[in-house]
Amino acid sequence: MSANIALVQENKSAVQTEQCPECHSHVAAHPNFMSWCECGWNLKPHRQEHAPSMFASFYERLGQRVGKQLLSDMEVLEHLMPKPSKTKLFTIVMATVVHAISLAMVLLCLFALSIYREYPVLAILAVPMLILLWTQRPRIPKLSKDEKRDIVPREQFPSLYAFSDQIADYLHMPHFEGILIDEEFNASYRQVGLKQKRYLTLGLPLFSILSPAEKAALIGHEAGHGINGDSTRNLYTFTAIITLENWFRLLASRGEDEVLVEGNLFGLVSNVVGMLMRMVSFIPQLLIKLFIHSIYYESQKAEYMADYLGAKVGGTEGAIGLSRKMFCETTFVLSGQRFVLRGAKGNYFDELKAAVGSIPPREIERIRRVEMMEGSTLDRTHPPTAYRIQTLQHHAQLAPGAIQLTGEQLKQLERELSAVEAKLQERLVNLLKEKLYKKPIHQG
Ligand SMILES: [Zn+2]
Ligand SMILES: [Zn+2]
Repeated sequence: MSANIALVQENKSAVQTEQCPECHSHVAAHPNFMSWCECGWNLKPHRQEHAPSMFASFYERLGQRVGKQLLSDMEVLEHLMPKPSKTKLFTIVMATVVHAISLAMVLLCLFALSIYREYPVLAILAVPMLILLWTQRPRIPKLSKDEKRDIVPREQFPSLYAFSDQIADYLHMPHFEGILIDEEFNASYRQVGLKQKRYLTLGLPLFSILSPAEKAALIGHEAGHGINGDSTRNLYTFTAIITLENWFRLLASRGEDEVLVEGNLFGLVSNVVGMLMRMVSFIPQLLIKLFIHSIYYESQKAEYMADYLGAKVGGTEGAIGLSRKMFCETTFVLSGQRFVLRGAKGNYFDELKAAVGSIPPREIERIRRVEMMEGSTLDRTHPPTAYRIQTLQHHAQLAPGAIQLTGEQLKQLERELSAVEAKLQERLVNLLKEKLYKKPIHQG
C-alpha cells in the first residue's frame, strides 16, 4: 500500500508543461506518459513494432482496403454466427490444393527413385529434393518446453480453473486442458497437437490490471476463438499456410545472403539456380495472397464474434474496458523500466497496478483518441480497435456479464495469482535489464 502512495505522489509532483513543436501551444507534460497535443502532434495509431511476417503484412493491407465494409456487416448480429459459407469452402479447397502439391512432389521423388536403373540422374536429384521436402514439412503446433513450464497446475489454481471452466460451460465449449501464465502483456488461445487440446495463455501483467468484468471478458474472448469456427486456426488450413510460408521463404531467400561466386562453373550454376528459385517463388506468394483473401473475412468475423462472446461473459462494459486496458502497454513498459532503474525492489505487480490506477485523465483522453484513429490495431490480424469498440457498443444491449466473480472468489483468485508473481517478476526484470543495458554494436 505504501508503495502505491509513494508512486502517486511522485507522479503528482512531476507534472510540467511543454511547448508543442507544431502549433506552439503549451501542453501538459508528464514524465511517465507520452506528450501530445490537441492539434494532432504525437497522436499516432497504435501498431505493433516488430517486423511482420509476409503473411501478416498482406493481411494488414487487405484490412485497410476492406475493413470498413466488413464493419457494417458485423452490425447485423446474425452475420457474426458461425455458419458454412462460400469463403470457408474456398479455404478448404485452397488448403487441399497445397497439401496435394506437397504430396505430389513426394510421390514424384519416390517414383524417380524407383526408376533409378533407367534414369540414374533423376534418382540422384530426387534424394536432396526429398530431404528438402522433409525439412520443410509443416509441423503440427506443440507447446515448447518453456511453454509447458508456464502451465499452472489445477490443484494449486482451483479458482482460476473454476472461473475459466464456468466461462467455457457458459459458451458450451470443452474445458481448457491447461492455463499458461507468462510475463507478457497479452493473452491468447490455441489448440495444439493432433488431438487439438485447448490452452489458454494469460499474461500476468495484463491480467493483473483487469477488473473482474474485464477478466471475464478476456477469457470469454479467448475461449470464443475455440467455438467460432475460425478457419485459420484449424489444423488443416494452418498447416497449409505454414507450408506455403516455408516454401516462399526458402525460394525467395536463395542467393540473397550469399556472395555471388564468379569466374567458375560452380559460381555460374549457383547464380542461375538462385535466379530461377526467386522466379519460382512467385507461385507460393500468389497462393498465399489467394489464401489470405479467402480466410480474411472468416478470421475477422471470428474476432468480432470473440468480442461479442467476451461481452456476453464479462458485459459490454467489461469488453470495452478490456480493449482500453490493452492500450496500457506503454504504461507497462515504462513502469517496468522505472522499477528496474530503481533497483527492482518490492513487488512490481503492485507498482504496475498503481501506475495504471494513477493514469492522468489526459493520458486516458490520448488513448481514447488514438484508438478511434483508423489503422490503430493491437495486432495485425485483429480488426481496428475503433471498429471493435463500435461493434461492441452497437450490440450493447448485452449490458451485464453472465459470469461474475463474488468477492470471496476474487480474493481467492488473487491469492493464487500472487504465487507466480515472484517468478514472473524475475523474468521481466531480467528481460528489461537486457534491453536497458544492452551495449550498442559498433559497425565498421
Ligand atoms: Zn499542437
Ligand atoms: Zn482475438
